[in-house]
Amino acid sequence: MKYLLDFRDKSKVKALKEAIEKFSLPSFVFMEVCGTHTWSIFHHGLRSLFPHWMKHLSGPGCPVCVTPNDVIDYAIELTLKEKVILVTFGDMLKVPGSYMSLREAKAKGGKIRVIYSVEDALKIAKNFPDQPVVFLGIGFETTAPSIAWAVLKAREERIKNFYILPANKLIPPAIREILKSNPNLDGFLLPGHVSTIIGRTPYLFISEEFHKGGVISGFEPLDILFSLYLLLKMKKDASPSIVNQYKRSVKEEGNPKARMIMKKVFRVVDSKWRGLGMIPASGLDLKDEFREFNAYHVFPLNIPPPQEYPGCRCGEVLAGKIVPPECPLFGKACTPENPKGPCMVSVEGACGIYYRYGG
Ligand code: SF4
Ligand code: SF4
Repeated sequence: MKYLLDFRDKSKVKALKEAIEKFSLPSFVFMEVCGTHTWSIFHHGLRSLFPHWMKHLSGPGCPVCVTPNDVIDYAIELTLKEKVILVTFGDMLKVPGSYMSLREAKAKGGKIRVIYSVEDALKIAKNFPDQPVVFLGIGFETTAPSIAWAVLKAREERIKNFYILPANKLIPPAIREILKSNPNLDGFLLPGHVSTIIGRTPYLFISEEFHKGGVISGFEPLDILFSLYLLLKMKKDASPSIVNQYKRSVKEEGNPKARMIMKKVFRVVDSKWRGLGMIPASGLDLKDEFREFNAYHVFPLNIPPPQEYPGCRCGEVLAGKIVPPECPLFGKACTPENPKGPCMVSVEGACGIYYRYGG
């Protein structure tokens, strides 16, 4: 606890606030890519410390939010038509798909289990050997190694009823896409957990090709404020680079072992993101030699084309085009109790965070 308090030291926060104010730029727009950064900025009241010329946008760093409706629709069909046991993380249940949410599918008799790790999914498969168990594998580089591990484990232990609905995504290609359409962005707070896996170098294109800054940041108030200070300095000095502020967790080279296991099981494919569309080389699919674990392959289904809730602007929120209160449904038709889009559901979703902490 004392360690944490060091990162919340009030006098240091005040000093950083003053140092940030001194830059006194005409404008500065940054994006926090990771949903936990959004949460931390609001939870610790950091927005009130930002000068009036600094604007922040929330990016595509919430895995629940960026999973497109067709994946949710497929999962629903799997449990209702194919009678599989669908296992996934709790936040996914409330996300409205095109026609219903997984929670509604459960009420209609779908066998859906909430789990906390992919290991739980394997346990369920072992406990119900006569029933197919499909893990809806959402997430970024952070969760992909453990999903890959589960696939290898299932093969090793000859667990024949365990499948993955692969939906993992890769963060750097999404940042590239955002940079292409948001020339006014000045820099990024880069995600801490993803970076523990991929390290610093996959972000170099941000400064080398787009001439913007990026700081891999921790999640405590002093981490975030210091990272912003570094971004501002880059802008002021016109010297963009990629800096690792979160050295206590993120190594320069990331975690090569975790990447090796990912590479063994997954191949990189083009992937559809909510709000950002199809992004080249931004997703992970199981390699052909693991096809027997791929739910898309084992349970081929024709599902109707996906639909979005009319008026939901979640896609624009994720792409940094608008902030949540600019959505006309925000706080009216759409609330955490009655979400119309995933950004209002997840604990890492920008709309939900703005709503809970005051937009
Ligand atoms: S997995 Fe971690 S780094 Fe990635 S978006 Fe979530 S909190 Fe951020
Ligand atoms: S407030 Fe609700 S409807 Fe509007 S963008 Fe966010 S999730 Fe979608």
